[in-house]
Amino acid sequence: MVMIRQHYILHTNLKAILLNAKLDVIASAEVKFDTDLPEFRTTGGANPGLNKFEFFVQPVMWIKAMDIILDRLVISEADLSTVAAISGSAQQHGSLYWSKHGITALENLDPTKFLHTQIDDSAFVVNRTPIWMDASTVKQCIEMETAIGGHTEMLKISGSKCYPRFTGPQIRKIYQQRTHAYEDAQRISLVSSFLATLFLGKVASIDYSDASGMNLLDIREKTWSKACLNACAPDLEQRLGTPVSSTAVLGNVADYFVQRFCFPATCKIVACTGDNPSALAGMLVDKNWLSLSLGTSDTLMMSLEEPPNLEEGHVLCHPTEQDTFMGLLCFRNGSLVRESINKSEVGGNWQMFNELLESTPRGNFGNLAVHFNEMEIIPKAKGTLRWNKDMQPNSPDAAKGIIKFRSPQIEIRALIEGQMLHHRAIAEDMGFHFITETKILATGGASVNKSILQVISDVFNAPVYIQMGSEAALMGAAYRAAYGYFIHENQAQHPDAPRISYRDYILSLTPNHLQLVCEPNKDSEQIYGPLLQRYRDMAITLEANQAT
Ligand code: ADP
Repeated sequence: MVMIRQHYILHTNLKAILLNAKLDVIASAEVKFDTDLPEFRTTGGANPGLNKFEFFVQPVMWIKAMDIILDRLVISEADLSTVAAISGSAQQHGSLYWSKHGITALENLDPTKFLHTQIDDSAFVVNRTPIWMDASTVKQCIEMETAIGGHTEMLKISGSKCYPRFTGPQIRKIYQQRTHAYEDAQRISLVSSFLATLFLGKVASIDYSDASGMNLLDIREKTWSKACLNACAPDLEQRLGTPVSSTAVLGNVADYFVQRFCFPATCKIVACTGDNPSALAGMLVDKNWLSLSLGTSDTLMMSLEEPPNLEEGHVLCHPTEQDTFMGLLCFRNGSLVRESINKSEVGGNWQMFNELLESTPRGNFGNLAVHFNEMEIIPKAKGTLRWNKDMQPNSPDAAKGIIKFRSPQIEIRALIEGQMLHHRAIAEDMGFHFITETKILATGGASVNKSILQVISDVFNAPVYIQMGSEAALMGAAYRAAYGYFIHENQAQHPDAPRISYRDYILSLTPNHLQLVCEPNKDSEQIYGPLLQRYRDMAITLEANQAT
């Protein structure tokens, strides 16, 4: 199986891996956009636009990357003739606009030529195509929300209120500012469905999970919402096509790939999806797991039975579990705040930071801090608040708190406990149930830090695991290819057989690459249960400070 993806956070590269039947990685290749394709002049895989907050990519760059990566796989002696199925993961939200000529070119590929010489600029009606970083559609967000009756309605239907980088507002901007181009666009793809489109040789369906990042899908019904479509642009449904399950087989690989790279003609293309859902698929976790990414920003991911009633955050259709949702929350004040306190207290030395963190007791003698250096997403608050154990939430000093704790170790523990209590509170608000079976999966840069992971384990009163080996989104795409293929074949042979779940199927082939790193101390809940309320009081105080 092969899967191809663009890099998770900055989307700086295209990667491909080939797995054997036991799901071991047996070949891989990579193309770095900035350096392998310098003619497109990207930085971090993106081009800044002429106006503020605009970012784009020339679609042909991604197509050229595809030509190169397949050649690199062949050069690495990967045997593509045994590939059973292909799937992929790509940045969420970005969109591509196919011209009539483009669709014809796609359906008539000549195997003696490169893809990029056949699917060139003329294949798209927009050649500076908006990507996930583009935040230039505030106006369109307001218009779309107003048209359907407000942001609560949008949230209820599509799982998120309107966000400028989401695809619906981006499509509306193209419709308003480049009406002729919109009218000429025969089909619109997300970056993920575009990837599937190339392999399929015809425009591929958008999958439910990635469709959930558009402000256009009714996430409960798994159909396009008429109200959202009408609020976005005319005759949109026919341009989007019918959405499908994220593990659906879309068809066989195009003859181009059979002739040129020796893929078998029966090789199946499984729907591609967005990077976050694909990462959740790659983690192989069930509903008792809370995934906490500690990268540049801290992110929470979880499975949910019901979409919550939260103003912020995103709810997506789950990529691998039917009738389940995926909750996604991103926080602004994560690693960057930890870095700045590390710098101010111990000169930027993580080892010293950890020694001091470990030298203070759980609960920090009642000292707790909330650091929102940037305006936080939930709660909507900015500023720093430090309380000691004597501070009363209703006292006149509560809003100001205390200026500084008396030692760096108190400062450091107050920061980390405050951050993790914030994360736990928001996960609860989103509808995650903390039970005895709850487990935490920590990923991202700071997950190498065992001292921080121990605080997480204690605050959440749950064991903390890390994932060994390859990136989750990459593996998630390959695993979905395997599962989609299996279900497709199995259903054809045994139509009445009960459907095995994604996780059970993958774990029957490969072990879970999760490693236990920390367990909570026995007194954790006793200490952090009451502190959770303390954090909530501090957050309410900080939020109230904004209003004054
Ligand atoms: P990205 O989100 O860009 O992929 P990473 O997942 O690589 O980023 O995470 C980068 C962050 O990891 C940095 O902000 C850095 O502060 C943090 N980090 C790296 N090493 C440590 C460490 N030992 N302890 C705590 N944080 C760390």
